[in-house]
Amino acid sequence: MKKYLVDHKKKIDLLKDYNPDEYGGWKGKKDEGVKRLEKLRRELDQLQELLYAEHKQKILIVLQAMDTAGKDSTIRNVFEGVNPQGVKVASFKVPTPIEADHDFLWRVHPHAPGKGEIAVFNRSHYEQVLVVRVHNLEPEKVWRKHYKQINDFERMLAETGTTILKFFLHIDLDEQKQRLLERIEIPEKQWKFSPGDLPERKLWPEYMKAFEEAINETSKPWAPWYVVPANHNWYRNLVVASVIVDTLKKLDMKYPQAVENVTQYRKELDGS
Ligand code: AMP
Ligand code: MG
Repeated sequence: MKKYLVDHKKKIDLLKDYNPDEYGGWKGKKDEGVKRLEKLRRELDQLQELLYAEHKQKILIVLQAMDTAGKDSTIRNVFEGVNPQGVKVASFKVPTPIEADHDFLWRVHPHAPGKGEIAVFNRSHYEQVLVVRVHNLEPEKVWRKHYKQINDFERMLAETGTTILKFFLHIDLDEQKQRLLERIEIPEKQWKFSPGDLPERKLWPEYMKAFEEAINETSKPWAPWYVVPANHNWYRNLVVASVIVDTLKKLDMKYPQAVENVTQYRKELDGS
């Protein structure tokens, strides 16, 4: 799944370089891919326990995407089966008046992971160079500075022990149309429909430009972006889970030191 990692030394062209419809990183069939995901979930559960036990590493996962691309369902599918105590999900909505009175990282930083924790951001500080840019909520000279501020913030998190993984879940305009239609037509899905998604959809090219530039400006060795083809849900889940599991495996985590005096404790317990 390395092929979805954005090379920080190059500039990407989102529409030319990435096809949201492909699933070429998996050589098997869809049902085999789904089975592989189940195995990855079990691995993730074990790795999370090790992460918590070792109490050293911090993991931050950032999810960004257009509406309906599947941020929520990626979280549900990838982390299903992982101890709920081990994963903290933070969702970032329109800032409250108090949040808006502060700098844009103020509301984000308290949700950064502590030692032994995995934090998942469902939307994130990146909204400040996406929705804010597309809707002119700040002048360009203000939002443009956020790239550097984001890079500095993420570098600080990385330098203090945080492994950062950022995923852009990439769907196309046609796929979004199908998904919105489904939300309107299936009664159990209607709760997910927001009329506000329709005007956003009209701004698709502006959003793609904003995503592309954000990815180009903030792909760093300490905080890489992955552009995940997301027209096929099973493949999107597989890519995200694979990257997370591979990354955690490479951290070379170890259970803390073994308990000393085991014989004595056993004796004490035997006699109790
Ligand atoms: P949803 O994730 O669909 O529940 O929607 C959350 C909404 O909050 C989206 O429309 C985001 O664009 C919006 N949002 C999140 N962060 C910000 C921000 N910093 N400024 C303005 N809108 C934001
Ligand atoms: Mg929405």
